[in-house]
Amino acid sequence: MDVYGLIGNPVGHSLSPPMHEAGYEALSIDARYVTFEPEPDDAARAVEGAAALGVAGLNVTIPFKRDVLAAVDPDPLAERIGAVNTVVFPDDGEEEVDAGDGSGRDAPRGYNTDAAGVTRSFERHGVPLDGRDAVVVGAGGAGRAAAFALADAGASVHVANRTAERATDLAAEVPGATGGGLDGLDERVPAADVLVNATSVGMEEDATPVPADLLHADLAVLDAVYTPTETRLLREAAAAGATTIEGAWMLLFQGVEAFERWTGEDAPVEEMNAALRAELE
Ligand code: NAP
Repeated sequence: MDVYGLIGNPVGHSLSPPMHEAGYEALSIDARYVTFEPEPDDAARAVEGAAALGVAGLNVTIPFKRDVLAAVDPDPLAERIGAVNTVVFPDDGEEEVDAGDGSGRDAPRGYNTDAAGVTRSFERHGVPLDGRDAVVVGAGGAGRAAAFALADAGASVHVANRTAERATDLAAEVPGATGGGLDGLDERVPAADVLVNATSVGMEEDATPVPADLLHADLAVLDAVYTPTETRLLREAAAAGATTIEGAWMLLFQGVEAFERWTGEDAPVEEMNAALRAELE
């Protein structure tokens, strides 16, 4: 039996175990998905411990996504984003890279599947990205993944963030991107084709980072926030006639991408989605 898992702190209410296990069941893969809650400064030891236990693959969530970067051999996209959310241990048939730590063990590979979570969500909803104008609100982990993913898909990206300097710093790293404060939304959103909320606004309270009067019918809006499933931003975007994409899709597709990297199989997307939706309800 293969064991996959998630490290995070806290991980108590993670939606990943039922989503991944529905995938194993649909493909008759003999595997389990378990959660681990290391101490916040123990990212590297947690990865080493999982490898020693024979865990085949790990997802990584808050607060470990940045720290795990140093404990793995990151792929170029994860390195650019500066965060890893998926680790593949070498036995999975991945290219092996010596850890160089004298352990004789091969280094695990690190990926960032949040980026694919963004692009595959738009693809699923029939929204083209190549040549489109995209606005990413937020410059934290999700904002970085979204900005690189959209730029790599051919979009022109503008990053708007409460702390404007974080947005301009990120934009300087993303090909062709611009960045600034939230005041720039007034000019950028009416002209945009694609909008991603990558802030946590809308999770704790019925709030939105984007004024409703900027939203329009030619816009496709992805809200990375997935609890609640329908945020105020998505409600107001739907009222403006925009295409709306719930954060649950991004969550699904980051998991689908991890599943495919671990198992080498096409993920059973519908079954994984049904399990995720059942959990979210
Ligand atoms: P993070 O690294 O802590 O970044 C938080 C971002 O939100 C920063 O840009 C921050 O701006 C901004 N922000 C926080 N409070 C704000 C406020 N009151 N007004 C305006 N901006 C505010 O967090 P993260 O990991 O990127 O996660 C962001 C959201 O995405 C969370 O809700 C998370 O659950 C969600 N997420 C979803 C998925 C998915 O699969 N659906 C994946 C990853 C993350 P400053 O820089 O100014 O502080």
